[in-house]
Amino acid sequence: MIVRHAKKNLIGLTLEQVKHELQAAPTVKPYTALQIWQHMYRHGSTSFRTMTNLPTTLRDHLHSHYTLDYGHVQSDQTSVDGTRKWLVGFNDPRAVVESVLIPEPKRHTLCVSSQIGCSLRCSFCHTGTQKLLRNLTAGEIVGQVMLAAHGVRQFEQQGQNSITRKKLLSHMVFMGQGEPLYNPRQVFQAIQVLTDRQGLQWPKQKITVSTSGVVPLIPKISELGVALAISLHATRNSLRDVLVPLNKTFPMETLMDACTQYARDSNGQRITFEYVMLDGVNDSMGEARDLVKLLKQLPAHVNLIPFNPWPGSIYKTSKPEQVERFAETVQNGGIYCTVRRPRGQDILAACGQLRSSEERKRATAAAAAL
Ligand code: SF4
Repeated sequence: MIVRHAKKNLIGLTLEQVKHELQAAPTVKPYTALQIWQHMYRHGSTSFRTMTNLPTTLRDHLHSHYTLDYGHVQSDQTSVDGTRKWLVGFNDPRAVVESVLIPEPKRHTLCVSSQIGCSLRCSFCHTGTQKLLRNLTAGEIVGQVMLAAHGVRQFEQQGQNSITRKKLLSHMVFMGQGEPLYNPRQVFQAIQVLTDRQGLQWPKQKITVSTSGVVPLIPKISELGVALAISLHATRNSLRDVLVPLNKTFPMETLMDACTQYARDSNGQRITFEYVMLDGVNDSMGEARDLVKLLKQLPAHVNLIPFNPWPGSIYKTSKPEQVERFAETVQNGGIYCTVRRPRGQDILAACGQLRSSEERKRATAAAAAL
């Protein structure tokens, strides 16, 4: 009987780990790992066969023992407003996540997932209705970025000069499915790969980790040098306990202390506070004033997010004029405040919606086949 061993994926390993993998490979020189690394991340190579500056014996060895696997695109949809959403599948049929690219005039932001499903059950969030299946690996996180980079033909621009080259992916947020700080090892390794100066070279300040408030790991965000976003959504514990149940473990006082410390440690790096606008729940002018009091000592950016309704949700989105008044009150209180425009509604761009919709379609097809 022939026993086939699964090939190991090099995507998501750090450069040091790639070097370690090459110890048993033939015809390896001190610079070989770096050559492979640059093929992977400077040129977006998806096959060892195309790495023609490597000896054939080494290419054959790599081909038989390793893969360059980003995951596979199950669906690729573009909204009328330009928002693009990929449904990305990994090793088993249920391992599916979403990545969303939001093009804006001055930035193109890729939103990636860090877990399949989520255990935190924030009551306004559609992903919170999907139980946690597992954490993503660093390779699956980096894979989402690589698929998006190929999707927008980023690597095809390498030869162009800086004037003609477009910023196709400029910012990245861990704001898709899952709580990134509940998968810290893999998320931090993925950040190390993405920011490697000899590879993809993502600027650290252009990567944001968004957390619902895993307080003990917030210092690690400043240590990594990446930006911090807090999924806040309320100004008092009694309401935040309902909207973001993790608040019962790490209440607002401890969360605000951690943010103050982050601001000190990161030399005043701005912290984004996400605030989903829920009609009659958290959108009063009193709450806008409380938000100002809560954040006035911090380098805060409040991002108001009109709620994107999903089937079965108990919340309604705040009226546009209420959102405007709320934003004005926060802004007049001296805090930088923006309102996120709803994006990609025609392609189910609210986090987790497309994955649920595809699962429903699969279940219906399976039932019809019985
Ligand atoms: S908001 Fe984030 S942490 Fe909360 S349920 Fe949704 S994905 Fe999970």
